[in-house]
This record gives sequence, structure tokens and C-alpha cells, in this order.
Amino acid sequence: MGKKGQIIKIAKGTMTDIATGDINYYAKNINTYAAISVNETGKQGVFFGSPEAAAIEKPTLEKFEFVVFENNVFKTTKEADATRPEMPSINDITAEEEEKPKKCRIEFSVANSVINNGTFGFDKILPNYKNLIKSTPQNLENDIQNLENEYNSFDVEGEKYFPPWVSIRVNQTIVLKIDDTFHRKDEYQNVAFEDHIDFSFRYMKGSREVTDILEANEVHITCKANNESPNGTLIKVKADGVDAGAINIWHPAPKAINLQWYFVEISGNEKDQDALDDKLELGNLSRLLEKGLNPALIDINITNNTANIVDITAENPRLKREGILKSSTNHKYIESNRKEDFVATVRNKHVAQNNIITLYLVNRSCLVTGDMGEDGGQFNVVAGFSPTGTGIAYGILDDKKSLQDTAVMHEIMHAMGLRHTFSSLAIHTFKDKKTKNYMDYNRTKKYTWKWQWARLHTYQHLL
Ligand SMILES: [Zn+2]
Repeated sequence: MGKKGQIIKIAKGTMTDIATGDINYYAKNINTYAAISVNETGKQGVFFGSPEAAAIEKPTLEKFEFVVFENNVFKTTKEADATRPEMPSINDITAEEEEKPKKCRIEFSVANSVINNGTFGFDKILPNYKNLIKSTPQNLENDIQNLENEYNSFDVEGEKYFPPWVSIRVNQTIVLKIDDTFHRKDEYQNVAFEDHIDFSFRYMKGSREVTDILEANEVHITCKANNESPNGTLIKVKADGVDAGAINIWHPAPKAINLQWYFVEISGNEKDQDALDDKLELGNLSRLLEKGLNPALIDINITNNTANIVDITAENPRLKREGILKSSTNHKYIESNRKEDFVATVRNKHVAQNNIITLYLVNRSCLVTGDMGEDGGQFNVVAGFSPTGTGIAYGILDDKKSLQDTAVMHEIMHAMGLRHTFSSLAIHTFKDKKTKNYMDYNRTKKYTWKWQWARLHTYQHLL
């Protein structure tokens, strides 16, 4: 039934091999073709070996009974021999290969610059999310499920697939990198996104446009219309009609917010103003806010070119007397446990409009007396304090020469309603300092997640 070194078995219907003992196949190549299905049953098991193994124990046809189920009739080996086709025809092979599970899984990623610059929103489920969720033993399963539900998962190749979220504006073109796993590329006729009226797709290999994902290493997606649904738009990639991947697209009409920024003068004689001027000017404030809020499809309009001043110099002696402002060998600082009193002092001098974001920048550390490093060394810097959802943000620029710009973005996101990633009041709660999210405590804040985009987008004073 085939050439030396090769076993080929063919059935037009279902192929069934039954043996009371073992079934042993020895060949360099074993090919089994059946139009319906193949069942091989051995009482001891079915073994496949190399031709070398065959030399030790030579199997013969007599060792097992060969039963073929063909046209609804069981046939013995001899009967089957008479009708068994010699070699598979082209049609038989095609029919068989369509039934064999194919391997085609398309994952998407983006260039680092997309994340670092906030070119568009890209939120892919964290690879180790199950370990990063902060929960209780009784709620863990449920919390994992809630997080997974954000990504509209489905099965690809028998494994869960989580389409990433992207955010995009009308007429914007975003570039996704394609990481593909193909069983065999030449088995596929067409691997491509499903058509969608709101989007156009171009598949690129370098600078050359190609016809489908099979050839491409990038896909360029252009948005043509908004969709206000918080569920966004799920678009699948099909490999010859079978699910092979997808993206979730969030594309509501962008919104805007106005922002005014202030320097708080504590020391007098424009000392704080001068120091803050050196750390932050309109250009870098504008850039840091834009890259943080663009993924949430929010434009920020800064209404004053240079910071306005809120002068609380006259309150300085009282603040010192009441233990709100303090001095140590290395720091002049705000006592962290009294920061509400500090905020009250600022608010007495300046009433913030409630339909804009107000950013107060303070050139003073915020520390806990007696905490490690009050006099230098290791200490916990409070980078700001912003009551959630009030539109008011306090940014501490303290004694550092360089601006911790992502901390300012963090404070403004608080002011617009976002919680810390590790807060039990957040939509999903993670262990702290484990992500690079803007709302985590870390030094490398760079992204936000889709449910945060949606939350920011519902901030009540957006235009
Ligand atoms: Zn915070």
C-alpha cells in the first residue's frame, strides 16, 4: 500500500483500524487520507515508529485486522483491498486538507513611539493579567472574567484570543504591526480583515502595498466615521473564512477641555515663579497633556500662554505657625498630612471655574515629618494631590531640576475622574507599581486602558 519507506492509507468514507493487540506503523512518512474521518483503535495502543524500529520488530498485515467503512458498509481487509484506491487523487487531498485544522493566528502590536507619543490609543491585555489583578480569593475568578470581557475575546486555534483596543479619529490612519503564526502560508488563499463601512485597510510590506495579510508586515487603518457606542467596533481577521484575529476599535467623536495653569507663589519676591518658569513652559505642558489625553480622544486647550500666579505669600507665616509649611536641613516642605489645609489656603485666594481644568503648580516638596528621608536620601515624594473628578489638579514640582511630566498628567487625570490603578474604586484593580499605566505609581507612566479612555470621555465638563 505504498512505496518503501512510506505508508499511504486512503478511504473515501470513514477509515477504521481495529486490532486486538497493538497497531504499529513504521515508515518515514505516514499519510492517512479519509473523506469523512479516521479512527484507529488498538487494545494496547497505536504506535508510530521510525523505519529503524521496524527492523527490530517487523509488523505484518496479518498482525491486525483492517476494516474499512466505505459507502456505509464495513469491509474486511480483503474486500477493501479490492476497492482501495492506489493513490490519493487531487480531489481527495483537497477535500482532506480543508478538514484538517489550520494554524493561522494574527497578533497586532505597535511601534514604541506610538505608546511613548500617544499617537493613538493601543490597549492590549497585559500578558500576565491574572497575576496582576488585586482581588480576594472569592472574587478573583469574577474579577478576571470582568477584565477579559473588556476585550471581547473569542477562540482562535482553540486558544483564547484577546483583540487589542485601538482608538482612532476620523481621517486618521494608524499603523499596526502584524505578528503572524501560519501553519503553512501556501495553504491560504486570503487572510484579511472583514470589510467594514467605517474603515479602510491597506496591507503593507515595507513601503509596498500588498493584497492581504499573508504578504504584509503592517496594516494601515483609516477611520471614515465615528461610532458613539461604548462597545466600539470589533473587526475580525478571517483566514479563508475562519477566525484568525481581530481588533476592537473605539472611535467616538473627539471631545475637548479648556485648561488654565497657575503657579503658586509661597516664598514671595517671585522666587517660586522663577523656579517654576525654569521647569515648565507652555510648549512642554502642551506636549505632555496632548500625548496623555490623545488616546482618550480628548483635545486640551490651554487658555493662558504663561502661568497665572496665585500669591499666598501673605499666608506664609500662618502656614508655618500652624505646621502646614515646614523646614528641615535639606527641604522646605508641605507637611503631607496637612495638604488639605494648604489646598484650602490656595482656594481662599483663587476660585477655580468649574467648567475648566485648573492646574496649580507648587514649587515645594510634600513630605511626612519623621518619614524616612525628610532630611534627604530616600523619601516618598508626593507628586501632587488632586481630588478625584473635581477639575482641580495640584502638581508638585518640588526641588527637582527636571520636570516629572507624567506626574502632572497623572494629576489631571485624577481631576477628570480617574482612580489609581490599585484603587478598589477603579473599574479594574491591579496590584500597585506593576504596570506602566498613567494612574499607577511608577516612574515610567506611558499609557492608559480603554475603560479609562471611556471614563475620561464622560467627564462632565468636556466640550
Ligand atoms: Zn495619584
